[in-house]
Amino acid sequence: MGLPTPVTGAAAALRSTGRVAIRAVRYHYALMSIVTRFAPSPTGRLHAGNLRTALFNWCLARGAGGRFLLRSEDTDVAREGQGDLEKQLADLAWFGLDWDGGPDRNAPEGPFRQSERRELYREALGHLAETGHAYTCYRTEPELKQRRAELRRRGLPPRYDREWAQLPHAEIVRRRQAGQMPVIRFAAPQTGEVGWDDLVRGPRSLPAAEIADFILARSDGSPGFLFANAVDDALMGVTHVLRGEDHLVNTARQLVILEALGQPAPRYGHMPLLAGEDGTKLSKRTGAMSVGSFRDAGILPLAFANTLARLGHPWEAPGLLSMQDMAAGFDPARLTTAAQRFDMAQVGHWQRAALDALPAADLAAWAGPAALEGVPAGLQEKFLEAVRHNVLRPAEVAEWQAILFGPPTLDPPPDTAAAPGLFAAALGAWEAGATDHRQLAAAVKDAVGVGGKQFFKPLRLALTGRTEGPDLGALFAVMPGDTIRARLAQHVQPAPGAEA
Ligand code: GLU
Repeated sequence: MGLPTPVTGAAAALRSTGRVAIRAVRYHYALMSIVTRFAPSPTGRLHAGNLRTALFNWCLARGAGGRFLLRSEDTDVAREGQGDLEKQLADLAWFGLDWDGGPDRNAPEGPFRQSERRELYREALGHLAETGHAYTCYRTEPELKQRRAELRRRGLPPRYDREWAQLPHAEIVRRRQAGQMPVIRFAAPQTGEVGWDDLVRGPRSLPAAEIADFILARSDGSPGFLFANAVDDALMGVTHVLRGEDHLVNTARQLVILEALGQPAPRYGHMPLLAGEDGTKLSKRTGAMSVGSFRDAGILPLAFANTLARLGHPWEAPGLLSMQDMAAGFDPARLTTAAQRFDMAQVGHWQRAALDALPAADLAAWAGPAALEGVPAGLQEKFLEAVRHNVLRPAEVAEWQAILFGPPTLDPPPDTAAAPGLFAAALGAWEAGATDHRQLAAAVKDAVGVGGKQFFKPLRLALTGRTEGPDLGALFAVMPGDTIRARLAQHVQPAPGAEA
């Protein structure tokens, strides 16, 4: 007898017989080092908070040479938006994450859409029912609400009351005949503690009595989030789950589900949720913060990743980290439990760093065709090099394009407050063959006696209308000669006494 055959599809095994799968999945789990996943529901676009969760799970897997999976939690189909899943995948790929299996890329752990895994949930549910861990419940939500209110009135904890929830047989028959479908509830342990060693927070525990008999399957037969998510993590061999602290109570529930199923539980870690600048919760339903809006504004993925990576995790290097640096340096035990605010100023800071480091060959793709429309083809590279350190967004590249390659004169002409005769001397030198700002500066110094800032400041203003911008040498190298001439001439005062 050799080793068991390596598992090529733990999920497929469960489809045949539950028992085999339980053994097979354990083997799978031991064999693979670290398996993490990101499991969004396909409703709306991803926001910064989702992406930070995805990033840290990706780092954890990639840093250990493990596997990173994507799972679409789409059992609640009523809420799925048209094309939302595709957009989410595109956002993740843009961000720089890669995955070993996902809705667009099958792998042994798949399928990766919960809607394609219903059979697995049905089997697991059957197993729980057979072993007395699940039961049908015909009590409706309004009834339960009423019961909780009643308990509260009597000074009792408003807990789910299992005994009360069991209806007499005749009533069940009556409800069934009236077409009411039951939900399936988990028979949660009512005493003891549920504990785990949280990857972020260390040992945690919750009194089992707080778990209550939560819903495993809704009355339409669809699996509840808690249940499907736990079954999937076990069957996919997921070893580590980093997620928001809003899932802390869910974790206790999922641990008891997996225990009842005899399935391995992943190690869970709970991170503080990201708050907006004003301290309020980020939400993916507020489109303003969607990943797509950052991407559309030209924020570089690496800038976004560096911003998010610093929300709750310390890094040795103060500068821009590559995705590989992040994977290599990530340690979930170093994640903080302190609340983190997403700050736009930080996005700008990392955009500066990422743009400064962007390979020249990638600048044109980043800026996009609209920002380069008016730039002669042979000058595009030089133009982008000239302006890259003065812009943060493609829209700003477009502004520089309009300034440098737009109409020859600036309208209205900027107020340069230059020394008298300065522009006449500069124009004279230009017409005599000077080609850059240094030669102009020498001529102006000779003729009017001013130099340095007193020349370069008005010169920059006359050429661009701005007080700051690219290096003057770079401006002379890309601007059309006629434009330079026309803008110098715009500021030449008629000689005293000359006829208008
Ligand atoms: N679909 C869940 C969510 O988006 C996944 C939670 C988890 O990571 O387990 O919140």
